[in-house]
Amino acid sequence: MGSTRMPAAFISHGAARWTIEENEHTRGWADFGRGLPRPRAIIVVSAHWYIQASAVTAMAAPRTVHDFFYPPGHALYDFAYPAPGDPELARHVRSVVRPAWLGLDIDSWGIDHGAYSILAHAFPGADVPVVELSVHASMPAEYHVELGGRLDALRDEGVLVLASGTLVHNAAATGEAARENGAYAAAAAFVEAVRAQLVADPAGAGALARHPGYPVCAPAPDHYLPLLYLAGLAAASGEKVTVPFADAVDGLGPCSFAIGMA
Ligand code: ZN
Repeated sequence: MGSTRMPAAFISHGAARWTIEENEHTRGWADFGRGLPRPRAIIVVSAHWYIQASAVTAMAAPRTVHDFFYPPGHALYDFAYPAPGDPELARHVRSVVRPAWLGLDIDSWGIDHGAYSILAHAFPGADVPVVELSVHASMPAEYHVELGGRLDALRDEGVLVLASGTLVHNAAATGEAARENGAYAAAAAFVEAVRAQLVADPAGAGALARHPGYPVCAPAPDHYLPLLYLAGLAAASGEKVTVPFADAVDGLGPCSFAIGMA
């Protein structure tokens, strides 16, 4: 196909409204997008498509899913990310990950805020095709690491793999009380353990769920699991995990990671 091998990343996405706001994180995502070769397509593993199956969006024109809970009238309801889909790539992904099974979604999901909150800044033109990959809610860590690793071949075809979650997804892990009751210290230790694990042994990332800081940072696994796709990609390629931009939240960080970036 003559394409450039693309990097891959896990990005901690923050609040849905960041889609239409600007802050140090969204500026980091914009720089990240500008620093990449232009992808042929983007696969987004989104924490916000957390279902009982692994599936990819396979429609030609995925809708913008307003999957957030802001009061009626909030400006984000008017936001659209009109990137095209790529049904052919969706079918190709399905064959690449075999024997894992992937469903083809033609009329249910679309592009959710786990994807577009980042893409609105990293790819503001919305002109690169986007395929979402769901996070299977009832599979063990090893399944996600392995499935992530099987996406490696797509990187040689000019496809950017972007896993979107949030490493510290619990308000009780930060703030005043957390600093007094030990939750903040546990969260900080977990964030550092994630970085160290990804650098030293990404294939063993499943062990992170046994870290004492894991339940503090990820009381539910949905926002954490996308990280394991990057771990799988790093394990499959042997590329060193790096920090694409500084994005510490409340002093906890870095919370985003990449491979294949100079
Ligand atoms: Zn989220």
